[in-house]
Amino acid sequence: MQEPPPFNATRLIDPPATRPLRQDMIQQQLRPRGIDDPNVLAAMATIPREQFIPSIHREDAYGDGPLPIGDGQTISQPFMVAIMAQLLCPDGHGTVLEIGTGSGYGAAILSRLATRVITLERIPRLLDQARARWRELGLDNIEGILTDGTLGYPPQAPYEGICVTAAAPSTPTALIQQLHPLRGRLVIPTGPRFMQTLHCIHRDAQGNTVTQSHFSCVFVPLIGQQGWEEKDA
Ligand code: SAH
Repeated sequence: MQEPPPFNATRLIDPPATRPLRQDMIQQQLRPRGIDDPNVLAAMATIPREQFIPSIHREDAYGDGPLPIGDGQTISQPFMVAIMAQLLCPDGHGTVLEIGTGSGYGAAILSRLATRVITLERIPRLLDQARARWRELGLDNIEGILTDGTLGYPPQAPYEGICVTAAAPSTPTALIQQLHPLRGRLVIPTGPRFMQTLHCIHRDAQGNTVTQSHFSCVFVPLIGQQGWEEKDA
């Protein structure tokens, strides 16, 4: 099994100044709600969330909610990032696809759990910022691509995991097709515009699609060919 690349120790991972805030986040927001995967907890304990947040909101970086990141988008609540990673369960190997780079924080967490992360974003400014943050932290197994993520990213398919961090009216068929037939899992919020359900989808031994529904959630819209139209978002 291939391990995810080690952190570059000379970079700014796990800065001591904010370590207690990450520990409090784990104890108060994550463990009580069922996050118990040691790899997910280790990733949440080391990635400095404050570096993915615009300076005016940085004091709230470890708060229990989403925060604005500009362009009408948000960085997800820490619990949501952690539960999606736990449901995806990349087990330290394979390539994971994220749809909706946003701040780049979710991809940074996934980069500690998989060999490689491909993340897709439609807003150029957000992608540029996210790339700069990964570079600064020495996270060099993440590749950000500017494209309509509702179509997935066929060149690197199939994926061990696909994590969609924006809400779709229904599951884009392109994403199901790009899942690894045996091990692939897709985590996606789908439903009406202002209230979705988080689903985890995989294929069974016969190749049938199996969907597990988890809980209600509200995400920003997934806008694209197999998502919402911009005018409805
Ligand atoms: N994972 C992010 C949260 C992202 S919010 C984080 O950790 O910060 C959802 C993101 O999905 C937004 O940045 C939005 O621009 C993006 N998005 C919406 N529709 C998209 C599409 N079709 N393709 C790629 N990105 C999309």
